[in-house]
This record gives sequence, structure tokens and C-alpha cells, in this order.
Amino acid sequence: MKPAAFRYHRPTTPAEAWEALAADPGAKVLAGGQSLVPLLSMRLAAPSALVDINGIRGLDAIEITDEGVRVGALVRHADLLASPAAREAQPLLALALSHVAHATIRNRGTCVGSIAHADPSAELPAVLALLGGSLTAGSARGTRVIPAADLFIGPLETTLDHDELALAVTFPALPAGAGVAYDEIARRHGDYAMAGVAALVAPDGTVTASYVSCSEVPTVVDLTGVPDDELGAVALRHLDPVEDIHATADYRAHLVEVLTRRVVSEARKARA
Ligand code: FAD
Repeated sequence: MKPAAFRYHRPTTPAEAWEALAADPGAKVLAGGQSLVPLLSMRLAAPSALVDINGIRGLDAIEITDEGVRVGALVRHADLLASPAAREAQPLLALALSHVAHATIRNRGTCVGSIAHADPSAELPAVLALLGGSLTAGSARGTRVIPAADLFIGPLETTLDHDELALAVTFPALPAGAGVAYDEIARRHGDYAMAGVAALVAPDGTVTASYVSCSEVPTVVDLTGVPDDELGAVALRHLDPVEDIHATADYRAHLVEVLTRRVVSEARKARA
């Protein structure tokens, strides 16, 4: 099947992109195209226009700031995975990114696109939620910072307005004395996870975990003080693993139990 007809814009500045988005409520941003193009080809999406942001300069920077790792809208998964500075500032990024798809997809797909797409089976939204990061959005009306807790509102649904371009996401750096870990189970390496868990042990011993493919939006669960053999059961009270063609709901729940114990233990050991 081929995509339905659409108009195509290739802005060279954020302002031009904002103008194109504001002019057409049916327009969509095109970044790496690794999620959007398959949706177009299967006609599961039929935007009236695509605003291709790949010609905009200055959106491909990875910066380590006082707030953490700031990732521009054209940073590809492979760029962030290969960045020693990002790995040092926030090791959870590389731990999770090594599970995102395959090398060819990581070469083109963007980290910000993954956050904007808000797929509950994607790793980076869960990481952003766990770390309490944020997304910086711009439009002709100005820029605003959206905390992760206010960003994800449903599967493939965020609080970004249709005329807003996500300019960057910021992942807080790992504080001294904290530890992180990530693990997931997929049918083949690079497939979307049947279940995935990211864990953070804070310097004060607080334990939180965030889940992939187990709820409609990234869900952060406080596991502080929970005995090891109850971690999975406590987490499951906040999750809603469902059956699909890849796994039954029971199997997903089992993976939550096994992975939560494993990942919390690894995060404790990783405390710097
Ligand atoms: P696009 O496909 O270009 O866009 C996706 C959506 O986000 C669109 O609605 C678009 O309008 C919106 N968008 C993108 N950028 C912006 C922006 N700057 N501002 C506003 N809106 C924006 N992902 C995983 O996380 N884990 C996996 O295991 C995984 N496996 C995959 C396997 C396959 C076979 C494929 C094809 C993809 C897989 N992906 C996986 C998806 C991949 O990570 C994508 O790169 C990512 O989901 C979207 O990034 P993108 O840059 O390609 O966005």
C-alpha cells in the first residue's frame, strides 16, 4: 500500500516549521520517519501535510548542561548511544538505547521523535518519565517546557499542541550516590519489548521503576522499602499488562515480576 497524498514542506528554520504547522491542523512533523512512514504506508495515518524538519540547522546537538543531557530534535538514537559525555552524565540512556530497534533504525530515528510519538512500547519515554525529565516545545506562540509527568496522556498521545515542534528533551544527570539499570525481554533483540523495566536508586535510597509495554503511558512506581520478593507484585498494582500477538497478559505480568527484581538489584549495585 502507498501513503495517501500529502503536501510536503522542508523548512530551514524552526520559525518556518511553526508557520507550516500553524497553517494546517492536519500537518505532521517528519523527523526520522521510522514510526511515521510505516503508519503512512499502511494508511493508519493520513496527514494533509508533512513538515520535514531534517533541513533545520542547530537541532542536532547533544549538550551536557546543569540540568542534564539536552538532546536536540535531530539527534539520532545512534548519536546519543555513541556519546561518551551523555553516557557519563546519565548511564541509563545508553543502557536503554542499546535495546531500541536495530542499527539501521537507530541511525535514522530520533530520540525526540520517540518521545513525541509516545509509544508505550518505546524505551525512551519510560526513561524520561523515570528521571523526571522534560521536553522543550516551540511554536509561533513561544517556547515552553513540559515536564515528563505532564507530557504523556495516552498511547501515542501527548500534550504537545498540533502547531508545536518539540525542539529538545532534557534527561537529568545521574547524581553522585545514585544507581540506574535497564533490562527488557523481547522475542528477538531489537524487537519492541514484551516488557521492559528501568530502575533508579536515588542517593537517599529511594527506589523507583518505570515500565515499557505494561501500561498505556509510561508509569513510574515508587518501590522504596518494598521487600525484594514483593517488588513485582507492588509494581503490578500500578500497571495494566495486556494480551497481544506477542505475549499473554499473564506472561507480561510474570516478566514484570522477574525484571523488576533483577533491575532494582542491578541499580543498587550500580550506585556510584
Ligand atoms: P518519526 O517517525 O518521524 O515521527 C514519529 C511521530 O512523532 C510523528 O507523529 C511525528 O509527527 C512526531 N514527531 C517526531 N519528531 C517530532 C518533533 N520534533 N516535534 C513534534 N512531533 C514530532 N522504537 C523504540 O523505542 N524501541 C524499539 O524497539 C523500536 N523498534 C522498532 C522496530 C522497527 C522495525 C521500526 C521501524 C521502528 C522501531 N522503533 C522502536 C521506532 C523508532 O525508535 C523511531 O525512531 C521512533 O519511534 C520515532 O522517531 P522518528 O525520528 O523516526 O520519528
